[in-house]
Amino acid sequence: MNGVTENIHTAQEQIAELEQQSGRPRGSVTLLAVSKRQSVAKIREAAVAGVLDFGENYLQEAIEKQRQLEDLPKLIWHFIGPIQSNKTRGISENFDWVHSVGRSKIARRLSEQRPPHLKPLSICIQINLSEEDTKSGTTTTQAADLCALTDSLENIRLRGLMAIPAPSENAEVQRKNFMALSRLFNTLKSKHPSMDTLSMGMSNDYGPAILEGSTMIRLGTALFGPRPS
Ligand SMILES: *Cc1c(COP(=O)(O)O)cnc(C)c1O
Repeated sequence: MNGVTENIHTAQEQIAELEQQSGRPRGSVTLLAVSKRQSVAKIREAAVAGVLDFGENYLQEAIEKQRQLEDLPKLIWHFIGPIQSNKTRGISENFDWVHSVGRSKIARRLSEQRPPHLKPLSICIQINLSEEDTKSGTTTTQAADLCALTDSLENIRLRGLMAIPAPSENAEVQRKNFMALSRLFNTLKSKHPSMDTLSMGMSNDYGPAILEGSTMIRLGTALFGPRPS
């Protein structure tokens, strides 16, 4: 297995190539390093290699890691996991971004509980494309209403959409899912100009995601190796 630094360089080269292939300027796609269940030492290595954005799924684990990394220049922390109501306060106090907002109740609580001395919390609305009820996120049809509500909240900045399409080995299916998300994103963005982020693509599918317009890819395994269980 390669080291974290090497994996980051490889991912950055591939991102640059895919940006070029999709006719977009260099730097259009942000690399979000998903560090859930990975060690603080690995996060430190990624930060030294130039990664600024980190994604975490579990509140307590994230707070503990943030405490151990306080000596580093400011990192940008993204909450990307499912959100229970009783976790919104901790999330709004300790993160810069939340990608997994799928319900109006959660959006309202995050705004109410965002400490006033911090910048507005950047929010992505999570879309449940397959509309399986086991998955979190809002449906394509309800996305417009949730974006409108979120955009009206005081301590929130609506930044875009996030999705985790069902894994598929079929490249055509992958591409169709990303195209559908891209289309929805462009429609909503025309009503909400603050929307500048389409968070889609993970270790196994970030190539097609970038080609269809992703602006932020969330890579865990590809950078850090398998997650310890
Ligand atoms: C864990 C996770 C990822 C990273 O997945 P990899 O396949 O390891 O790249 C990305 N997004 C979300 C929401 C996750 O929970």
